[in-house]
Amino acid sequence: MTEPGNTGALTYEAAEAVLDRDGLETLVRVLRRRGRTVVGPTVRDGAIVLAELESAAELPHGWGVELEAGRYRIRRRADTAAFAHSAGPQSWKSFLHPERVRQWSADRGPEGELTVQEETPDPVSYAFLGVRPCDLRAIRILDRVLTGGRHRDPAYGSRRTGAFLIAVECTEPGATCFCVSMGAGPAVDEGYDLALTEVLDADGYRLLCRSGSAEGAAVLAELPRRPADDATRRAAADAVGSAAQRMGRSMPAVDLRTLMRDNLEADRWDDVTSRCLSCGNCTMVCPTCFCTTTEDVSDLTGDHAERWRRWDSCYDLDFSALHGVPVRESARSRYRQWLTHKLGTWHDQFGSSGCVGCGRCIVWCPTGIDLTVEARALHEEATGTENLR
Ligand code: SF4
Ligand code: SF4
Repeated sequence: MTEPGNTGALTYEAAEAVLDRDGLETLVRVLRRRGRTVVGPTVRDGAIVLAELESAAELPHGWGVELEAGRYRIRRRADTAAFAHSAGPQSWKSFLHPERVRQWSADRGPEGELTVQEETPDPVSYAFLGVRPCDLRAIRILDRVLTGGRHRDPAYGSRRTGAFLIAVECTEPGATCFCVSMGAGPAVDEGYDLALTEVLDADGYRLLCRSGSAEGAAVLAELPRRPADDATRRAAADAVGSAAQRMGRSMPAVDLRTLMRDNLEADRWDDVTSRCLSCGNCTMVCPTCFCTTTEDVSDLTGDHAERWRRWDSCYDLDFSALHGVPVRESARSRYRQWLTHKLGTWHDQFGSSGCVGCGRCIVWCPTGIDLTVEARALHEEATGTENLR
């Protein structure tokens, strides 16, 4: 398994091989036999979602997606690729940092005595199959936030440390993808146990598979495979290289951190506010947004109470409440907070951008607000080029 923030420290003999569909099926079987809960993409309710898989047959073979700002549709493909789709509505944070977690419960007995039961972290041992390079980067960002600082989350740490990550390089970017602009894809760099690249050409269906950890190499050794050949390596590199040229979106090639810092009073914030509903969808789908709040609930008798932690959003009015008064009262200030944090002040806090270019916030925004468009508009306003297009 890959260690959070320490992926390069393991010593092992890296392996490379070619798998066919039988190898993919065996991969799921081997991981389950090793006690892993295998999670991967599958078609459900008109979307490609992440769910527990019992077999590789449940992968979205032959399905792709059509994406645009505020629009998501699955579509049949002419081929049987299993990983020719870009980011869906969920990210891996749904499993590593779940939406709702009970922290403790308390019961009052017949004599009024109180028993408090603390929740212990879920001992689940995940294998994530089909982690995109942008999402692999997002996991590293969550590692930094939730395990690398002063405020560590032991529940995240226990799920993450036990997780086996199978990355799949991107060969089919979506219309809202811009991982190239954020330096997060479409090739994988580090942080995986196994990395796959799907190849479909005249020589048939196959997966170039590389190990990135000792456990990855051990799992690969259990699979039906053949030695990696130059033709497959070349085809895999070409497919990933072609994906890099076909990104649907791009960020303006400027220093985004400075752009955000120097334009807090731009008119563009008013423009975007007229379209933003403050619904918080963009924060829910974002693979790096991690904020939570707590809520206490009790039953009607008042004898049983529970504390839950749940995802929160900086678009909630209560999110910025200090001494009972929200600091960010206007929708303008809340959208600005989200974007300037994501692209700017995240660097100051955590040493990287908070955006990996997955495009989810564009797709799942009900009014189709697109952060690449907003960043470009801010740049054009700042440089006086807005009316020159
Ligand atoms: S800000 Fe948007 S594009 Fe960037 S990582 Fe979050 S959801 Fe993806
Ligand atoms: S930007 Fe879009 S998704 Fe985000 S809060 Fe505004 S309307 Fe909702």
